[in-house]
Amino acid sequence: MAKLIDGKAIAAQIREEVKVEAEKFRSEGVIPKLAVILVGDDPASVVYAQSKQKAANKLSIDFELFKMDASTPEADVLSLIEKLNNDPSVHGIMVELPLPKHISKENVMSAVNPKKDVDGVHPINRGYILSGEEGLFPATPESCIEIMLRSGIEIEGKHAVIVGRGETVGKPLVFLLLKHNPTITVCHSRTPDLGQFTRQADIVIAAVGKAKLITGDMIKPGAVVIDAGINECDGGICGDVDFESAKEVAGAISPVPGGVGSLTTALLFRNVLKGLKMQLKK
Ligand code: NAP
Repeated sequence: MAKLIDGKAIAAQIREEVKVEAEKFRSEGVIPKLAVILVGDDPASVVYAQSKQKAANKLSIDFELFKMDASTPEADVLSLIEKLNNDPSVHGIMVELPLPKHISKENVMSAVNPKKDVDGVHPINRGYILSGEEGLFPATPESCIEIMLRSGIEIEGKHAVIVGRGETVGKPLVFLLLKHNPTITVCHSRTPDLGQFTRQADIVIAAVGKAKLITGDMIKPGAVVIDAGINECDGGICGDVDFESAKEVAGAISPVPGGVGSLTTALLFRNVLKGLKMQLKK
């Protein structure tokens, strides 16, 4: 039976570290602040924005929500971003997705100051992922790595199989994980016989968006299984890994919920402080 990787406990550790650091900044007269822009009223985005507000309060980080009507012209969103870029009291900016159809996601992502880009979506930060330079990186792929590091899982020299090459998780994960020196195989929808590859992995990381795609018979006994998937199923949420069969074979496994997803908000706020330090250095 696999060791259960406790994402909630790891998230609590990270939150504590972020809070301590945020309070240190406050004691020095710098009030860390995240600004979130919400265009329209997509119900999931409203919930995400509210949950960030609650998290910020607990972490001693200031938070301001900028709500804009769904019909707001792109130019107005860009000028708000410009204003926040130039506001020294704002250290992190994130724009909730999806945006209304008339607004270009690319234009918005490129408009945020890269040092305030806590979601790690600016082309410069995406470039830093490839070059290995320090930057602000997206929370979910960082979460896949952090959950392993803090569980004492060795990555160097291991064969990691990443399932999924999406822009949000799989693709950035390949290059962020490479810094830890595994050998990496990337699988996707055109990979024939997925199990042939996952069975060779010391570490399987799933970032697909297909409920219970990876079953126990596709896992090498003793392997580490990290599940970044979030899918609606059985009236709740489940991952891309069939937890029940996989836990019988794996050596360690992260559940959904309670795994990778538990860390992402904490890592987003850690990025606010990382960005703040970059801004102070300039
Ligand atoms: P995405 O952009 O839709 O990418 C999905 C990837 O899975 C694609 O590369 C696709 O291959 C591949 N794929 C699809 N069907 C497959 C199959 N049958 N076998 C192997 N690969 C297959 O998704 P994403 O935005 O990266 O997100 C991936 C998952 O992470 C989703 O479940 C999402 O909900 C979750 N997620 C979680 C968090 C969190 O906080 N935990 C945050 C963001 C996303 P092709 O490239 O060939 O199409």
